[in-house]
Amino acid sequence: MSEREIGAVAVFCGARDGVDPRHLQAAAAVGRTLAERGITVVYGGGGTGLMGAVANGALAAGGTVVGVIPEALIGPELAHPDLAELHVVQTMAERKAMMADLADVFIALPGGAGTLEEIIEQWSWAMLGYHAKPCGFLDVLGYWSPMQELVAHMLDQGFLSPKGASMIRFESSLDPLLDALEDA
Ligand code: AMP
Repeated sequence: MSEREIGAVAVFCGARDGVDPRHLQAAAAVGRTLAERGITVVYGGGGTGLMGAVANGALAAGGTVVGVIPEALIGPELAHPDLAELHVVQTMAERKAMMADLADVFIALPGGAGTLEEIIEQWSWAMLGYHAKPCGFLDVLGYWSPMQELVAHMLDQGFLSPKGASMIRFESSLDPLLDALEDA
């Protein structure tokens, strides 16, 4: 039985396209599916890479997309011009705190250091009890398999509790990931 109602998902993902075009396609499909399910997309507000693809996928399907961007990154990240709601904040810390407030759960699509930093911070906040919102990695084309192995290794070596491990989920497609996060 589902316990958590997901009205808004914070999506963390690469500001770059990546090499394999299937990553962009998957990101657009995530935006579209969230929109079709009536779920608000909260993201970093950029227009490039997978970030832009998620936003465009959701907007094309009539979804609600909320961006949160630090003022200094409006230029470099090409702040998305078509968002109904774009919050301009001063710092990265404010961006992450606002995204955490606005979302019910967090998901990471393929991305780089920024993506990893953002999702891991939310996971660590959940473990510290700052919020009770779970994190999910969308394992497109096995991109996050090394991360899943690392989490298993942390658990195995006693640096992560089973409860902490239950706050982070891995699935290769979106619907099972959202189901897992509803139950986490
Ligand atoms: P990346 O996954 O490296 O392509 O970065 C994706 C997004 O993460 C970009 O919008 C960056 O602005 C953001 N980002 C990068 N570093 C950080 C950080 N330290 N804290 C929060 N967001 C970050």
